[in-house]
Amino acid sequence: MAGTLYIVSTPIGNLEDITLRALRILKEVDLICAEDTRTTRKLLNHYQIKNNLLSCHSYNVKQRIPQVLTRLQQGQQVALVSEAGTPGISDPGHALVMAAIREQIPVVPIPGPSAAIAALVASGLPTDRFVFEGFLPRKKGRQTKLQQLKDEPGTIILYESPHRIRKTIEDIVNIFGNRYIVLARELTKRFEEFIRGYASDILQLLEERDLKGEIVLLVAGTKFKSFT
Ligand code: SAM
Repeated sequence: MAGTLYIVSTPIGNLEDITLRALRILKEVDLICAEDTRTTRKLLNHYQIKNNLLSCHSYNVKQRIPQVLTRLQQGQQVALVSEAGTPGISDPGHALVMAAIREQIPVVPIPGPSAAIAALVASGLPTDRFVFEGFLPRKKGRQTKLQQLKDEPGTIILYESPHRIRKTIEDIVNIFGNRYIVLARELTKRFEEFIRGYASDILQLLEERDLKGEIVLLVAGTKFKSFT
């Protein structure tokens, strides 16, 4: 009988943010495919888990898929983890999931943190309807994507690096107008911070402050009026 591929969510900063089930699976599987073996080793050491790690990042995933499928077909249990959060969400993982499904191997999610959802629920922006776009294209297709998102009624969730945040907000102002936005920075970490306000005010703030760390950018959809 084939093994199971477990998609295991891991912390996005705070090592306490991991479920009991995730820890049990990471202990019990025959192999953990990890985007960054050093990060995963740190997590495993923290919970005194010893297990076999196989590096499985975007550069080698094509070679890894047949190797991992063979092990699953032999009946081994495999966990997939990314560097942080939920594998497959702006992280490698989807190709392996598709390959497993093609081979009729069971795929089981072990839910847990994802920066997008953590940011959304504390942003204060509407949660009843949202779109997740991950990282915007850097060049080709960027303008088209922003044009498509301009009329989105729900909250728009984007991932962005601190070096590009300013440019992205400027592009949003140019195409959407002066929307209400929220920056969710360093979630679950020591310097966690939410910066809320109209895009033009936030751009002004960024004149005085360099943002560091990891950031989720949330943009109010067309249906959002105000907090009052
Ligand atoms: N798979 C991850 C997830 O489920 O959230 C996302 C991985 S993606 C490569 C990394 C991006 O997620 C970062 O550039 C940032 O935009 C966002 N991110 C991850 N951790 C974060 C955190 N602790 N605080 C804010 N944003 C975070």
